Amino acid sequence: MACTVTFWGTRGSIPTPGPHTARYGGNTPCVAVAGADGELLVLDAGTGIRALGVQLVEQKNGSVQAEILLSHAHWDHIQGLPHFKPFFAPGNTVRIWGARQGTTSLEAILRQQMDPAVFPVPLDALSARLTVQHIEPGEFTVGAFRVRAIKLRHPGTTLGYRLTPSAGGPSLAYVTDNELGSGGHYDIPAPWRRHLVAFLADADPLLHDAMRARAAPRMGPLDLRRSGGAGCGCGGEAAGVVSPRAGAWRRRDGRPARRRAPPNQAA
Ligand SMILES: [Zn+2]
Repeated sequence: MACTVTFWGTRGSIPTPGPHTARYGGNTPCVAVAGADGELLVLDAGTGIRALGVQLVEQKNGSVQAEILLSHAHWDHIQGLPHFKPFFAPGNTVRIWGARQGTTSLEAILRQQMDPAVFPVPLDALSARLTVQHIEPGEFTVGAFRVRAIKLRHPGTTLGYRLTPSAGGPSLAYVTDNELGSGGHYDIPAPWRRHLVAFLADADPLLHDAMRARAAPRMGPLDLRRSGGAGCGCGGEAAGVVSPRAGAWRRRDGRPARRRAPPNQAA
């Protein structure tokens, strides 16, 4: 039985409800990967995690075991956590994995997001058992998956992940908020593109976000032609990393895949 991937949130920066985002939903990033035995690994905790939490509570409240792997701590990737329903019942267990940001621990960042000044339930008052696990680029195990983490070209410490079922099977790669153009200055080794290509080799599927549909368009109030270093890219750039010669992702049946991403709102 293969792994199952469910997209609970697909938008960057800010939730975008409305008819123009109805097809892919308007929630910020959250992807659930279920292994062959049903064990769940959650990628990012944008507003999409709220509906996932409701479903988990309906299915097994009191015995939910959630493993949440954060790419980074920008608000759109953590803002759903205060509304993650499994937090609020005893017996549930939640473990959150992610990198510290500079000298600030991930737990401190999550605690600030639920400070009583901005949210009524502080992190210390949750009924579930919560663990925050710091990680760095490298390899480690989360539940039923072997995980490799690589640092991306994005402000702060942002990690891309490659998940491989411990029981065997194809790897899934999750790469979000990654600048693939020449702009920006990031604390990452110079041969980053070669490292990224090797990291993604044979990953199937690859989940990669795209802030823009094409390189360097004008985009509302933010002109990305003048703002190299915004830490994001377009779909064509991502496809070019995976298939540098063809410059386009191809489906298993050989037909070109859709290259136009659902539009996000801002960098
Ligand atoms: Zn970000």
